[in-house]
Amino acid sequence: MALREIRELGDEVLRKKAKEVKILTPRLKELIGDMFDTMYAANGVGLAAPQVGILRRIVVIDCGDDPITLINPVIVEKDGEQIGEEGCLSVPGKVGVVKRAMHCRVRALDADMKEYEVEGEGLLARCLQHEIDHLDGKMYVDIAEEMHDVTAESEGEAQEEAQEE
Ligand code: ZN
Repeated sequence: MALREIRELGDEVLRKKAKEVKILTPRLKELIGDMFDTMYAANGVGLAAPQVGILRRIVVIDCGDDPITLINPVIVEKDGEQIGEEGCLSVPGKVGVVKRAMHCRVRALDADMKEYEVEGEGLLARCLQHEIDHLDGKMYVDIAEEMHDVTAESEGEAQEEAQEE
């Protein structure tokens, strides 16, 4: 396993549509492991394959409960509304206020290519919508109502944590 380079806003790979995964090759399995490592090392809660330059429909998420692997995810239901701050590992130093559905249900394949469903509420629902958007080249900055710089204080904390690892 290894850390991958996180692509940042302005990199055109982030704007392309990712392809469906038909066969989970050893290379893609390795990619999933690397995506988790990269996400945790960057203190993120979600990462989509295009963010590490790979145009495949793969997402990893860990909002603090369980690590989730989503292959070819599709949102099959969403309802309610939440307005809150959102950040992205591909947009360092910024957060934006984004309106999302409060609840969503996603159908996907797991790391064994078996179909399953994930149901999310609140932060997990926000994360699912944000990451699945990445697979179609969409970024939250397109729909954010306002953007802010991350305060010097919280940035300092994040850097300290990163140095400890
Ligand atoms: Zn993102």
